[in-house]
Amino acid sequence: MMNQDDFFKKITSHAKEYGFIFQSSEIYDGLSAVYDYGQNGVELKNNIRRYWWQAMVQFNENIVGIDSAIFMHPTVWKASGHVDAFNDPLIDNKDSKKRYRADVLVEDFLAKIEDKIAKEVEKARKRFGESFDEQQFVTTNARVLEYRSQHETISKRLYSIMETNDLPAFKTLIEELGIVCPISGSRNWTDVRQFNLMFSTQMGSTADGASEIYLRPETAQGIFVNFLNVQKTGRMKIPFGIAQTGKAFRNEIVARQFIFRMREFEQMEMQFFVRPGEELQWYEHWKQERMKWHLSLGIPASKYRFHNHEKLAHYANAAADIEFEFPFGFKELEGIHSRTDFDLEAHQKYSGKKIQYFDPELNQSYVPYVVETSIGLDRMFLAMLSYAYTEERLDDGSERVVLKLPPVLAPVKAAVLPLVAKDGLPEKAREILHSLRYDFYCQYEEKDSIGKRYRRHDAIGTPYCITVDHQTLDDNTVTLRDRDSMLQDRVNINELRRYIAEKIKPLVG
Ligand code: ATP
Repeated sequence: MMNQDDFFKKITSHAKEYGFIFQSSEIYDGLSAVYDYGQNGVELKNNIRRYWWQAMVQFNENIVGIDSAIFMHPTVWKASGHVDAFNDPLIDNKDSKKRYRADVLVEDFLAKIEDKIAKEVEKARKRFGESFDEQQFVTTNARVLEYRSQHETISKRLYSIMETNDLPAFKTLIEELGIVCPISGSRNWTDVRQFNLMFSTQMGSTADGASEIYLRPETAQGIFVNFLNVQKTGRMKIPFGIAQTGKAFRNEIVARQFIFRMREFEQMEMQFFVRPGEELQWYEHWKQERMKWHLSLGIPASKYRFHNHEKLAHYANAAADIEFEFPFGFKELEGIHSRTDFDLEAHQKYSGKKIQYFDPELNQSYVPYVVETSIGLDRMFLAMLSYAYTEERLDDGSERVVLKLPPVLAPVKAAVLPLVAKDGLPEKAREILHSLRYDFYCQYEEKDSIGKRYRRHDAIGTPYCITVDHQTLDDNTVTLRDRDSMLQDRVNINELRRYIAEKIKPLVG
């Protein structure tokens, strides 16, 4: 596994060099955990969004989309619980002056114990060879049992501290475990404090009584408060869903992981409204559907796994993450949550308006239950970028960097390249570009040798390069070069559309 810092250095410099991602306000030395998408980044990001939107809205008769505002009435965030409970416990190291999430420090400690168990298992596997029975080993080996019991005791303490919000106990736990600051190596910690993650600002001038409002920390609430609007005007029948993509803002305490954890980011969320009592069936359904969506991009299934939550948020009766294997390990990419009727009930209470659905089949009214799927657009971008980034040594000894992006997500679908910039080849190449560009984003390039142009397009993940040469003028054929295999085929210009369309077709859906 590549070291996390090295990997981020590679990815960030590649992402910058090829116009995917820039640090925000870079000429002023940047703004921490905020990023801008460049000319290729915006295409990749839009393609991910479109791929999601098509799967959720276009392919489901009973899901519609909305686009709600970032600013919302401040009471929304009282009702949702964010004003009172959207906190992270933070702790500072007095020597390094670095700030950490107290829960993450303990979780990292737990992960180290898991690593130790994994190492014992590996050692034993080597020792016993063929006859190794892992199940038996982990349930009987004294050292593993000791690690497991440590793990369990610490997890239980962590959960109970988080549940009861017992901040002094948090500090005691960190001290007892002897957790040191990874930077200074010291145990010189401040007390643990709660820190609300919402950004606030003022709306209106102070003269006419400005009010404090928040930048939304999730897109979901815009859907909940529009539940009745959409249900009535769209004549939607339960079960049905509302989808939306858009910005969310969180004043994250620890934000040193490139676009994995940003202070301004985008979410793609879908809230599915169901009959009370049917939510767990729908929760299972959406877990499977969302996993299928990920796999339809052609990335190996071994890169994904479910992580079922044992500790549930106060509003949920079931929750799981879809984790992706980033180069720094398996981490949350998407959450699927069964949120009960918590949000709609709360908005009903705080607004004093009835938020109910009359179910004609049951002949009764109720507050629907909700199953949500929530994925970070930027985090999906990072998953794709880190999966796709490949350094290859070629047969001739040279190296190439290629982004093996799923073709449907690639910023540019085909590059149209005249072999030389003369003899009528540029004109012919432009003619081809113009015939394709209604259907696919294609780019024309004539500068530099053909080899260099191929490399540039490999580096941004363009699935096909179309090269126009002198033979093209005679027989209307071009060479079609495949990004991954680098094989070149001679094909008729009239066939190009079919080739590209076939290449970018998703695997299912
Ligand atoms: P985490 O535990 O990583 O802080 P979370 O459980 O708070 O995430 P949710 O509130 O469930 O996340 O948000 C849904 C999705 O939004 C996450 O799965 C993730 O992909 C994305 N997301 C959340 N916070 C951020 C962030 N700060 N930067 C980028 N993406 C984020």
